[in-house]
Amino acid sequence: MNTPATSVADYVSRAVGPIILFGPPGAGKGTQAKQIVERYGIPHLSTGDLLRENVKLGTALGQKAKAVMDSGKLVSDDLVNEMVAERLARPDCARGFILDGFPRTVGQAEWLDGFLSARGSKLPLRVLRIAVDQDKLFKRLTGRRTCPACGAIYNIYTNPPRVPDSCDKDGTSLTFRKDDSEEAIGTRLKAYENETLPLADYYRQRGILTEVDGDAAADDVSRQLFHALEKGEL
Ligand SMILES: [Zn+2]
Repeated sequence: MNTPATSVADYVSRAVGPIILFGPPGAGKGTQAKQIVERYGIPHLSTGDLLRENVKLGTALGQKAKAVMDSGKLVSDDLVNEMVAERLARPDCARGFILDGFPRTVGQAEWLDGFLSARGSKLPLRVLRIAVDQDKLFKRLTGRRTCPACGAIYNIYTNPPRVPDSCDKDGTSLTFRKDDSEEAIGTRLKAYENETLPLADYYRQRGILTEVDGDAAADDVSRQLFHALEKGEL
């Protein structure tokens, strides 16, 4: 029988199991992943980091991936799956882990299911999705302005400077990155949606998807995520 954890020390000694975290760009996924990592003491696995690590260390997988990328192609699902498999076999993943940027396709999700059941995981996979209103997200992303002098960040919709387009601290004209243009953001959000919606459906059908309201304050989002994770067996 499980007794409720009473302190942070309890959480970090308990088995958490595999967690997948989804969220569109700008939804604060990085911040939330960090909160989960700190609370439960489990590793954060991002496929981007894994790829960079393998290439840097010159592993067999890294060399294969580098050859593919150098030829201007995308690294295949199979190759990414192999890197994930190798990473999940390391001892620090025994109590649980959080996957970020993986799976990216339904094919990878099916592979992960097979991998976890083959390894005899007793703890169920949990899938968390930070859902954000698209209009709000668009404003949050396209409204970003930064001060080239001191690095202060503003948002013309949610956190505007006192004088339009100039920094509160030093009066420098604010700039915005080309990546934050409406067109670039629109493309990124569309790509995320196309990629992730089939995965959300896949996990929803299996009854293991939890969606939390990402429009709430960051602390509230964390609380929702912890609650989702702890109402189960944790
Ligand atoms: Zn400034």
